[in-house]
Amino acid sequence: MDVPLLDLRAQYETIKDKVKPVIDEVFETQRFVLGAHGAALEEEVARHCGVSCAVGVASGTDSLLLAMKALGVGRGDAVVTTPFTFFATAGAVVNLGARPVFIDIEPDGFEMCPRALAAFLDDECERDPATGATVHKASRLTVKAILPVHLYGQCADMDEINALAAGRGIPVVEDACQAIGASYKGRKAGALGTLGCFSFFPSKNLGGAGDGGMVVTSDKGLADRVRLLRGHGAHHRYYHDVVGFNSRLDELQAAVLRVKLPHLDGWSAKRAEHAGKYAEAFEAAGLLGEVTPPATLPGRTHIFHQYVIRCRERDALQAFLKGSGVGCEVYYPVSLHEQACFKDLGYAPEDLPQSRRATQEVLALPVYPELSDAQRDYVVERIKAFYKR
Ligand SMILES: *Cc1c(COP(=O)(O)O)cnc(C)c1O
Repeated sequence: MDVPLLDLRAQYETIKDKVKPVIDEVFETQRFVLGAHGAALEEEVARHCGVSCAVGVASGTDSLLLAMKALGVGRGDAVVTTPFTFFATAGAVVNLGARPVFIDIEPDGFEMCPRALAAFLDDECERDPATGATVHKASRLTVKAILPVHLYGQCADMDEINALAAGRGIPVVEDACQAIGASYKGRKAGALGTLGCFSFFPSKNLGGAGDGGMVVTSDKGLADRVRLLRGHGAHHRYYHDVVGFNSRLDELQAAVLRVKLPHLDGWSAKRAEHAGKYAEAFEAAGLLGEVTPPATLPGRTHIFHQYVIRCRERDALQAFLKGSGVGCEVYYPVSLHEQACFKDLGYAPEDLPQSRRATQEVLALPVYPELSDAQRDYVVERIKAFYKR
């Protein structure tokens, strides 16, 4: 049996009849950038996640870049984030001229550890009495934003993080690129911080037909700022208030995404159902000594962008599964604090032990909505065959 990690063709088959006409329609209008679909999608996504403003941009990476730029992040600033994430989280910080400060993840989860964040802010930072800014004592950089990542589709502990940030007047930007539709104590990812960032990369739970992203916020001033920045900083064409970017969500993407958005919650629920069945099956197979299924934490709904287990003999298991026709992947094999390009940040491998340990233990298994029960059973059976060999 063949079980791919993700099967976008299977999803396309279910919505083909609705996708083709809207693509045709966009071609008939020949309006490809900043048209009706983009504006409508912004409203629909804002409503879906419970914020008042949304701004479509060219990618998830750009949503991070523009959200932070709108907050004034730049040279001389530090942005606090986690090292166990996709590269773009920290890449966007560096591309603004700022410096990422890495806070370790929870020992039993994958999101930023609030206790480690508190320790950093309390012990390694001080308030500038004149400006009230939070300054990192060693580097003298200003902590301009906190950037938690809702990894794999589950929200970070936002009450704890928001409380630490609010006490110091530091804005919080959510990297919700993997978590559209996830909720935390009844509120949606993207609506929990100052600004939220989404990616519509094809493999995300809400994926377009290419790159795309969106910044969401209930702060109208910040939304206007992001809107300005995505169009070269011009209020009116050829009159530029600030230097911005060319980062718009195009009409073809918006049209496809509008077809998919009404399916998103159903698809994510199906993923969560697979996740529940996996956990039951691992227990029934007596595999809980070898495999730790991902936990859904209290007060949260997990959208399972990825279903990621921690496991013993990870590399050997991965090779065995691939040899059995089961798609699986390591997200992520290198913690960002150990990336060659971040060498000058001065981290030693053991500085962020939980993140480092996660890179050695994690394995993502197939969890897409169209996965069949037989395929899922086969994945579990193969894992059992590996450990009971
Ligand atoms: C996908 C992703 C991004 C970047 O999104 P792109 O649309 O690929 O630019 C950023 N952060 C995280 C956590 C992601 O998963």
